[in-house]
Amino acid sequence: MRLNKGQLYIISAPSGTGKTTISRRLLKVLPNIRESVSYTTRSPRAGEIDTVDYIFVSVETFRDMLKNNAFIEYAEVHGNLYGTALATIQEVLSEGNDVLLDIDTQGARQIRNKHIKATSIFIIPPSIDALYQRLKKRNTESDEVIHRRVEKARDEVREGMLYDYIIVNDNLDQALRELSSIITANRVRGNCIDKDWVEKTFHI
Ligand code: 5GP
Repeated sequence: MRLNKGQLYIISAPSGTGKTTISRRLLKVLPNIRESVSYTTRSPRAGEIDTVDYIFVSVETFRDMLKNNAFIEYAEVHGNLYGTALATIQEVLSEGNDVLLDIDTQGARQIRNKHIKATSIFIIPPSIDALYQRLKKRNTESDEVIHRRVEKARDEVREGMLYDYIIVNDNLDQALRELSSIITANRVRGNCIDKDWVEKTFHI
């Protein structure tokens, strides 16, 4: 049984660090945690499914949602808009699950500035060269785009130093163990416990 209420986790990393692989594996091995599906204006990539990978919307729909304060954070990344809807988070939390937000450093900063309680985890590649090699191996971006992403990675790593936890991904299993340990330890922290439940159960 769980003593704690659902928590928010933010995970960010420079493009090509292996964040998606680590997050997907985490969701398979750790119970009671779900990913928040973001809204985006970018087009689906081959194999991506609407409402599973993202909720793909037009720029007009996104702007309307922005006007209606539907997002707890949003950002423009590589020319497209991405946002986390408050309703999505509330839905996952109401099911008694933790929420994993796979968002960029701009979004994480907005959540921090709004003083929303969240645990942030930043994943870094073992070196700039390793990042460059990984992006090249992926073979999905041109040399120019790879160069831009590597340059952006430096700024992201600087911002990443403000996160609660930093994980170096030079070994996937080790990185997954570290991420899983952070969440597991956090779940039993005294300040995450559902005090209402304790008071009711023990009549205190
Ligand atoms: P991609 O288009 O490759 O799936 O994602 C590009 C970047 O956008 C990634 O760094 C990802 O973490 C970030 N991202 C995805 N969804 C959101 C979101 O809802 N908010 C913010 N701020 N960033 C997001």
